[in-house]
Amino acid sequence: MISFTSTQTKPPTHLLHSQNLPPFSQRTTLPSLIKTHSRIHVSKRSKNLKLRVHASAAADGAQPYDREPAQQQPLFSHKKPTSLKIAVVGFGNFGQFLAKAFVRQGHTVLAHSRSDYSATAQKLGVAFFSDPDDLCEQHPEVVVLCTSILSTEKVIKTIPFQRLRRNTLFVDVLSVKEFPRDLLLSYLPPEFDILCTHPMFGPQSGKFSWVGLPFVFDRVRIGPGEYRADRCDEFLGIFAREGCRMVEMSCAEHDRFAAGSQFVTHTMGRVLERFGLESSPINTKGYETLLNLVHNTAGDSFDLYYGLFMYNKNAMEQLERLDMAFEGLKKELFGNLHEVCRKQLFGHTEGITESITGERPEKVPKFLPASPRSAAIDDQLKPRSSGVHSNGAPNGSAANGSLKLSTETIR
Ligand code: NAP
Repeated sequence: MISFTSTQTKPPTHLLHSQNLPPFSQRTTLPSLIKTHSRIHVSKRSKNLKLRVHASAAADGAQPYDREPAQQQPLFSHKKPTSLKIAVVGFGNFGQFLAKAFVRQGHTVLAHSRSDYSATAQKLGVAFFSDPDDLCEQHPEVVVLCTSILSTEKVIKTIPFQRLRRNTLFVDVLSVKEFPRDLLLSYLPPEFDILCTHPMFGPQSGKFSWVGLPFVFDRVRIGPGEYRADRCDEFLGIFAREGCRMVEMSCAEHDRFAAGSQFVTHTMGRVLERFGLESSPINTKGYETLLNLVHNTAGDSFDLYYGLFMYNKNAMEQLERLDMAFEGLKKELFGNLHEVCRKQLFGHTEGITESITGERPEKVPKFLPASPRSAAIDDQLKPRSSGVHSNGAPNGSAANGSLKLSTETIR
């Protein structure tokens, strides 16, 4: 069963750049396969899908933008999902992982990356283009940015937007959201649609199934017209069909939540990886969870982790909180240890006091296991029964001598 939740009833108005955009309630549509919750606005269209498609326009790189299609035709129905032409930009670990699902669902997939992945692409049924101009001249309806967070701005600058159709939908899947949203809003021509997403799983955690895994999205800018809204829904439908838990929230909300959950998870995974966890014959369930955490996070590039830190303004605060929590825990442990040692030490001196003053101090339990060193200290501190110490000194000075020796031994 597909579930769909939203924390956002309205998109932030500053994100609606185009003056021509209709109000949110008119624009928001959901494919019928996505179950809606009460706070989501659903247009009549989503119940009665009358969707339209581009007639293919000839490519003409000389025009400022490739022409909009003159005619529109039915694109998809309830029964059969529409096939989209999707370009994946950044065909690394995650780009390939997503491309497999796109191909599996019958979409036409193109790819472009800095490195040459033609052989891998061929195996996956993906058309690979080393030159971004060639990719754009294929007129993908959707361009999915799967680049590292750190390189995204650089890559966006290399995309020849003028070779794309004017209403192309740009999607990003970066693990931070405010940063790519701002980049796309500032670099893309205003006619382009923008959908910011974060599939909150990866090649490890989503290896066998995406059922129940969260997919966060924010329709940052979807232009007017049914075709645009439906294309966006169709793209979201890819993840809904795989069983993802579809969560609509603003990019800012995502970054706040993700810093406290995803960034902390990655940090603990990397700390434990450096710590060098090893499997043992007596692994507990909790320990298995830690081993899995290391396994799931170690496969991700350091660029990804560094991006989570650098490009989420909430990450630093979480790192500091983690640090403080660790220090706090250490302080509590060492504080208890100090208390035990203190009692042990002063317990002995209290014994000496008894021999001097004749007062019996409260009995202090011995918490620490006896070591040869503590046994020596015990011996030194033992109260003497005779009135004269073995060195011939009276008891009082003998006790003082013992105490002095004991503290030196301890040091
Ligand atoms: P990544 O290290 O974050 O990104 C690798 C991709 O970035 C590759 O396609 C690589 O291209 C490209 N790239 C890196 N530096 C570049 C540069 N200087 N110029 C051009 N391209 C560059 O690893 P990833 O796991 O594949 O993640 C890709 C994106 O998906 C990231 O934004 C990440 O936050 C997001 N994401 C990842 C996961 C996950 O579990 N892995 C989950 C959700 C979202 P080449 O391979 O051609 O060098």
